[in-house]
Amino acid sequence: MNERTAERQPLFRPQDRRRVLVVEDSKTFAIALRQMIEAETGLKVMSCACLKDLSNAILKDQEGYAIAVVDLNLPDAPDGEALDWTVSHGIPTIVFTGTFNAATRARIMEREVFDYVLKDSEFALGNLVGSVKRALTNRETRILVVDDMTTTRRLLAQMLTSQQYTVVEVGSGADALTMLEKDQDIRLVVSDYNMPDMDGFELARRIRRRYSAEQVRVIGISSSTDRAISAGFLKAGAHDFISRPFILEELQCRIASNAETLLRMRQLHDLAWRDYLTGLFNRRYFFERGPKMMAEARRAEQPTCVAILDIDHFKRLNDEHGHDAGDEALRVFASGLGEALAGRPHLLARLGGEEFALLLPGLDKSEAGSLTDAIRAGIAQRPMAVGPLTLGLTVSIGLAEISARDSLDVALRNADRALYAAKQAGRNRIQG
Ligand code: GH3
Ligand code: MG
Ligand code: MG
Repeated sequence: MNERTAERQPLFRPQDRRRVLVVEDSKTFAIALRQMIEAETGLKVMSCACLKDLSNAILKDQEGYAIAVVDLNLPDAPDGEALDWTVSHGIPTIVFTGTFNAATRARIMEREVFDYVLKDSEFALGNLVGSVKRALTNRETRILVVDDMTTTRRLLAQMLTSQQYTVVEVGSGADALTMLEKDQDIRLVVSDYNMPDMDGFELARRIRRRYSAEQVRVIGISSSTDRAISAGFLKAGAHDFISRPFILEELQCRIASNAETLLRMRQLHDLAWRDYLTGLFNRRYFFERGPKMMAEARRAEQPTCVAILDIDHFKRLNDEHGHDAGDEALRVFASGLGEALAGRPHLLARLGGEEFALLLPGLDKSEAGSLTDAIRAGIAQRPMAVGPLTLGLTVSIGLAEISARDSLDVALRNADRALYAAKQAGRNRIQG
């Protein structure tokens, strides 16, 4: 992986890309914060040095702020009035303060702020930027709250929502299992112990049976003073336990550390199984997952086909427009393939260079031929926007149906022979 192609992907989807509001009267802090936040999140910072600037920034705002960072003491707002402004306008807020005591804490917490960070060490700025990033990534984490008592469930859901998580609520263990089936994006389950149909241990056990710890993590919660409950949850496969009553910061830290672990595991997974340039699966994943999909299709007495797609004269594109344009063309090409295949069972991977492999379970050779030829024709007909350029690309395709005896390796070699024939026959065509 060279320096250029290894550059970091933006952290957030374009629809989330908004601005960060920084309310801070110290110029030095404000400048340092702007630089760090902009560099680490890719979001733009809007700075305000006093309450008057802040009220203007909020009242004239057209796009909304993703998050606000607010200094409690400003020259024209010594008592946290700035915090009232951001919170009452629905902007998730992180308080940044030099003075902190029990009274300050109470004042901050009753506003349901996202977090507070103390200006108490050389790590303060780093901590603050970490908190801003957490606020943005928390939105990507879906949490299922399970409790038969509506009031306690609502309260917990509200606390998690103020932490920017996306929250789903259910009132029983059975509903929790149904919801997990339906909503595959749920990553964390926070479950009460005492519930009439199924207790928290049983729910944790059943979740563990169906989902790996990489897919779903469970956190138990209970107001019982019986210490055996926390041990019971952990033995049943939960990852953590919270006893009621808890304070918001405890909940926040426990949930955040579990969410962070999930995120890290996902990143490791992507590093191992995905191609860094296009985000598609890589060759290794294709050979890991492909045989399993072939076996599933065989059990269901369904055919499977495999195709290799190779862009025509790609070297020429690099030579004429440069390697960067080549890289961008590969990204656009890959995302176009993904879109063309959306909604049907398939496994798509970048094998290397400008060569892609496609496994199509459930299709025989004539069906797979029609599908891939339609993709080929679509690419040939529509010029591709590659940065400022508009390029006409074509692709050659080798196709093979996988017989009951064939390994994926053998099938792919057959597809490669067909691809060679397609190139020999003049390119922009399918053979098989
Ligand atoms: P053909 O029609 O026969 O497939 O010709 P071709 O030029 O597409 O194929 P060839 O295999 O001769 O060249 C492939 C080129 O793809 C050569 C290599 O520089 C380029 N390439 C491989 N990987 C990358 C990449 O990650 N980025 C870019 N920009 N180019 C790449
Ligand atoms: Mg090629
Ligand atoms: Mg090639």
